[in-house]
Amino acid sequence: MRQYDVLTLFPGFFQGPLSESILKRAQQHGIVRIAVHDLRSYAHDRHAVVDDRPYGGGAGMVLKPEPILDAVASLRRGQEPHLVLLTPQGRPFKQAVAKELVEHQHLLLICGRYEGFDERVRALLTPDEISIGDYVLTGGELPALVLLDAVIRLIPGVLGDEDSARYDSFVDTLLDFPHYTRPQSVQGLIVPDVLLSGDHERIRRWRRKEALRATKARRPDLLQQALLSEEDLELLEEIDGEQGVG
Ligand code: SAM
Repeated sequence: MRQYDVLTLFPGFFQGPLSESILKRAQQHGIVRIAVHDLRSYAHDRHAVVDDRPYGGGAGMVLKPEPILDAVASLRRGQEPHLVLLTPQGRPFKQAVAKELVEHQHLLLICGRYEGFDERVRALLTPDEISIGDYVLTGGELPALVLLDAVIRLIPGVLGDEDSARYDSFVDTLLDFPHYTRPQSVQGLIVPDVLLSGDHERIRRWRRKEALRATKARRPDLLQQALLSEEDLELLEEIDGEQGVG
């Protein structure tokens, strides 16, 4: 069973998201164990102080190093969890990073607050620093939940076939193809004929083409990184032809 420990000043943040849907099911089925730990319980004084004013002055408070270092030492329990520090300065979180992290049996996620961590936390723990995007959130709790969700849904057995991740966007670098369900017509917009044809090969080719079309239109940067097959190149030519480009 994979173990995910989270260190946070706000354990309450996790209650809702961890007790719904897929994250709940993964725990109930014994596939993952998720434990949320209150950083305050590792404070050194009776007022449970975990932050202090920055040396050099300036606005905001900084998370003290000792409670974090003690918490990590205690949560290691003789094992070597992969330490993840959520920070806007970390490496960008991508599907490829989720795929990498799912290989670890034990992750320990450290959520920051205020101005962030005392620099010595980084120096002493040398964690895997991860950012969920180029914007600043109030704390690391939402980033930790984003990461947990993206990683846990990749563990075999977590998703049922009905919510399979096989064709999700980014799985093979491309965006996902368009999806349709009942009814066949909505305000004059109808489901493409091919999807009603029952011809699996035509449907497969159409979906691949539409995934390529969506990626080319919305994320051309991804298309440049993708490993494209002969068929993909043919489909892209068709798309260019339809658009009167090539
Ligand atoms: N002063 C810090 C900076 O500019 O790098 C930002 C601190 S932020 C207000 C407080 C905490 O929220 C951070 O320590 C981090 O744990 C978390 N956080 C905020 N934005 C994040 C992001 N984009 N990715 C990951 N964690 C983030």
